[in-house]
Amino acid sequence: MPAKIIDGKQISQSVRQELKQQVEVLKASGIVPGLAVVIVGNNQASRVYVNNKKKACEQVGIHSEEYALPEETTQQELLELVETLNGKEDIHGILVQLPLPKQIDEEAVIAAILPEKDVDAFHAQNVGHIMIGDYRFLPCTPAGIMELLAYEGIDVSGKECVVIGRSNIVGKPMAMLLLHKNGTVTVCHSRTRDLGEVTRRADILVVAIGKAKFVTADMVKPGAVVIDVGMDRDENNKLCGDVDFDSVKEVAGYLTPVPGGVGPMTITMLLKNTIEAAK
Ligand code: NAP
Repeated sequence: MPAKIIDGKQISQSVRQELKQQVEVLKASGIVPGLAVVIVGNNQASRVYVNNKKKACEQVGIHSEEYALPEETTQQELLELVETLNGKEDIHGILVQLPLPKQIDEEAVIAAILPEKDVDAFHAQNVGHIMIGDYRFLPCTPAGIMELLAYEGIDVSGKECVVIGRSNIVGKPMAMLLLHKNGTVTVCHSRTRDLGEVTRRADILVVAIGKAKFVTADMVKPGAVVIDVGMDRDENNKLCGDVDFDSVKEVAGYLTPVPGGVGPMTITMLLKNTIEAAK
């Protein structure tokens, strides 16, 4: 039987309805959640992400402000903007869209954001909170994946969970959240030997590599839950994931599509974090 396709778009719409109600309650008490989105330079993908984030804010009633800076912005200029936003009372969340131009040190910029306004949860203080399981915000992509699993009634406890990718924004926090839910977690990366042998053990396989259609059916255990984080381009420049959707859907039990899987949930979690910050 082909996999059940997890409809991230529909699930995220239903979560956004709940968030909209929370925003209305906050507004009634005089608080309008506010998000500042900072974009530096001319990266086209970043522009699309920022536009989607702004649209999503509008949908649930969050006030959003965009700060678009030119490609040649210096680190000092960006740090000054972050400092200003840190002090702005009507802004509860600050998001600096990555990647930044090469003259800017991303770590320094992330470190400059007030942890209580760090709605991406990239600041070392928030990362530490996630590590010990006592957190204010969760990073949006892994948090969105946990919501998708919960929505589908997929219990993580005791399951073999394999995460491919160890980035600070996806792979590592993903592994931690699965561990908090009592999964038995293995993290793979470019030095992992015999990747297929590891991935075939997975009851839950999360793929965040950044390589189009990299995971094929022979790497997947029959009936496994496969979560595709990738946002890649195929040979026809069409958006696709890290998982070879057509072959894997014949083997997996559940599968997220690209687009329409993890992506919409990531943005929804950004809205959720902004509302939490406002609270
Ligand atoms: P990243 O920082 O480039 O990390 C990629 C990871 O994949 C690294 O840990 C790398 O290993 C590993 N890797 C690369 N080639 C591999 C191979 N052949 N075998 C095993 N592991 C391999 O990427 P990222 O920021 O985590 O993003 C991953 C993908 O998710 C991208 O397509 C990105 O666009 C997408 N993304 C989507 C969303 C969303 O909302 N849908 C959000 C964030 C990211 P090493 O560490 O050894 O180099």
